[in-house]
Amino acid sequence: MQVDIIRDMSSPRFHSRQDWILASQFRPEAEAAFCAQLEKRILTLADSSKKPPAVIFDLDSTLYEVCPRTHLILREAADSLSRGLPGPVKRAFNSLLESQVGYSISDTFQNLGLPLQSPTIQKAWTKIKGFWFDRFFSNEYLKHDRPYLLAPEFVTRLHKKGAHILYLTGRHDEKMRIGTLDCLERDGFPVGDPRVLLRMKTGTSPDDAAFKARVARAWGERFNVLACFENEPRNLIRLQSALPKSMAVFVNTVCSDKRTRPGNRLFHLKLFPKLSHS
Ligand SMILES: [Mg+2]
Repeated sequence: MQVDIIRDMSSPRFHSRQDWILASQFRPEAEAAFCAQLEKRILTLADSSKKPPAVIFDLDSTLYEVCPRTHLILREAADSLSRGLPGPVKRAFNSLLESQVGYSISDTFQNLGLPLQSPTIQKAWTKIKGFWFDRFFSNEYLKHDRPYLLAPEFVTRLHKKGAHILYLTGRHDEKMRIGTLDCLERDGFPVGDPRVLLRMKTGTSPDDAAFKARVARAWGERFNVLACFENEPRNLIRLQSALPKSMAVFVNTVCSDKRTRPGNRLFHLKLFPKLSHS
């Protein structure tokens, strides 16, 4: 099965980004409606269910905007690598705005009008990407992330209603656990509670989608996982396959250009809803 998926990744049946969104089928319910529905199900199941109700949340670009982290690192790259960068790259990165930062370093080069087809520009891209990679996946820079509007309130609300909160992230455990916990606590997300778990990738984990599917299947044995919130189409599709009874919520922020098959019966969330008082 896995082999077939890999072999077929170039097929027109597989899409990325906007094409994937257009090819996917989303349920008609608005954010506020399906989030209220989720809340009700948690309340109903919290005391009666054999398996405790739970909700899975990805972190990067689902609960947290990571653009400020990348922006700072790229500005530092412009300083530190200055001598080795060609003039146009140096100038562009010296005045880089947060709004010009893309999902990937390639996207940012594109936003800045720096063509990667040019060998000189490509050489600069390799240097900058290496500089970014060493810092982006580290505790030190996580504090620059920003939670999305109302995300902490939303997750806290579900936790208070009785849900286990399961953070499932492709961040590296060894290099990023301390910074991740510090930020979650700083920003008011549920943390440090027996009903909260944080699962991160270890050195030997496979790619994000396979890792998340494996963890989600195991969690499905222990919990009644009611919903998964994820910004990356490929991860979401795998989570939906692992937990077919859960609500698969596509958090439409930014995502990679990794191709995957279109989704079916997905929920679409652009902004975390302000939940009513009850
Ligand atoms: Mg993510």
